Amino acid sequence: MSTEWWGLDWRALVESFDTIVISPPPLCAYCGKARRLTKEHLVPKSVGGTLTIRVCRPCNQARGASGTHDSFRAYIRAHPGEWSRHVKAARRDKGLFKWLVSEGLIHAPPM
Ligand SMILES: [Zn+2]
Repeated sequence: MSTEWWGLDWRALVESFDTIVISPPPLCAYCGKARRLTKEHLVPKSVGGTLTIRVCRPCNQARGASGTHDSFRAYIRAHPGEWSRHVKAARRDKGLFKWLVSEGLIHAPPM
């Protein structure tokens, strides 16, 4: 018996339903809860951030543009490569360097 139905391989389709049903819901990158997720700029958009991760709204609002928020700090400590990628992808003309220094994320070279 053919597994084709209206041009679809419907065995593959059913398997994809299984995947959808059994895959865990996406979780907030900060608190780990399965809530509706929002786009969070690790480097705040206001200082040139362009890349995003997915966090819940309460975490997104609690962090704001802080560079010292506990969950944010824990996340970048656990994902140094990703943090570096976000910093490199940020625009340089919006006070990025000043923000990184003022939040204690990098240290200005000694005079
Ligand atoms: Zn959260």
